[in-house]
Amino acid sequence: MQLVSGKRVAVAIAVLLCALALFTTACDHLFSPAPEESVTDDAVLFSTFVQIQIHEWPEDTDPQAVISAAFDRMERTGSIVSVYDEDSDISAVNRARGETVQISEEAFFLLEMAYKIWDMTDGAFDPTIGPVVDLWGFYTDDHRVPTDEEIEDALTRVDAERVQMDAADRTVRLPQDMRLDVEALAKGFAARAAAEHLMESGVTSALITSGQSSLKAVGDGPEGRAWRVGLLHPRTDEEVYAAVDLYDGESVSTSGDYQRYFERDGERYAHILDPDTGRPPRTIKSITVITTDTVLADGLSTAFFVMEPDQVLSRVENMDDVMAAMMTADGEIKYCSQMEARIKLTGN
Ligand code: AMP
Ligand code: MG
Repeated sequence: MQLVSGKRVAVAIAVLLCALALFTTACDHLFSPAPEESVTDDAVLFSTFVQIQIHEWPEDTDPQAVISAAFDRMERTGSIVSVYDEDSDISAVNRARGETVQISEEAFFLLEMAYKIWDMTDGAFDPTIGPVVDLWGFYTDDHRVPTDEEIEDALTRVDAERVQMDAADRTVRLPQDMRLDVEALAKGFAARAAAEHLMESGVTSALITSGQSSLKAVGDGPEGRAWRVGLLHPRTDEEVYAAVDLYDGESVSTSGDYQRYFERDGERYAHILDPDTGRPPRTIKSITVITTDTVLADGLSTAFFVMEPDQVLSRVENMDDVMAAMMTADGEIKYCSQMEARIKLTGN
């Protein structure tokens, strides 16, 4: 387990408080009864607050040891894909200045997922968004509003089609002025790794929290009920605007303009950027996706944040196993028809 220092700790603690607010509200104050017996632990891994709570485990298994090993798996997967870790596989590709680099199986798998989501969302999710994210100062927290010329220039270096990948030897070649960024999938990827470990260990009821925004259910909740998850209100720190039910194997991910942003002259600039305009989109404040695959949930919530609300809903209506609920820029709550049976608005 690795603890981080300085500014990152402050960010991590803020995230932790938000996550706890979300979680306590969701589980204690809303609908789920406190389980009779459960084991919960949390940590800060790859600068991210993570938590695992286990409710049912095999008799001969130590649940605390299972959680520790799951944290190790999360740490490993998180750190091999993080753009914030100089030793990650993604950073190695970014540093290679046009040379071909061989990467780990996990990192290659995640890049393939990134391309799948790029394809599914007509490029709203773009794994080569790095130069634009950098321009707005999100990598260093030294934020600034770039000029039109700077944005135009950075956009010439955002083009997912220019990356060469070879599955046979797991190699990647990135043109030297470009920069990969799969941060939008990292928390979901870590949650997926933890879920794999819990299932391999015979755990039949558990909930994994990865960062402020990704959750994965292993089995149903206590007493065979759904897990009830609160969706944080994007403008009030501790309130939830809705609660949604999560069932065995499902994942939920939220992207929003309140998680990482800066303000200049009364304008809010969020960390998710539209690959077409190079600017933060302004039609959605918060969007939540439920689907089985944790990485897909993470990627789709980021991509949907870039789209128009009605465009998201019509897309989701035509997708199997994908549901979405959102708060739009003007505060309206919208969700797809499959969500109706499992969402409860709190009136906040
Ligand atoms: P998330 O919080 O999961 O929605 O991911 C946001 C992060 O993904 C940002 O901090 C950027 O590093 C990256 N990102 C921003 N815009 C995009 C985009 N359009 N496609 C893919 N990744 C993005
Ligand atoms: Mg995401």
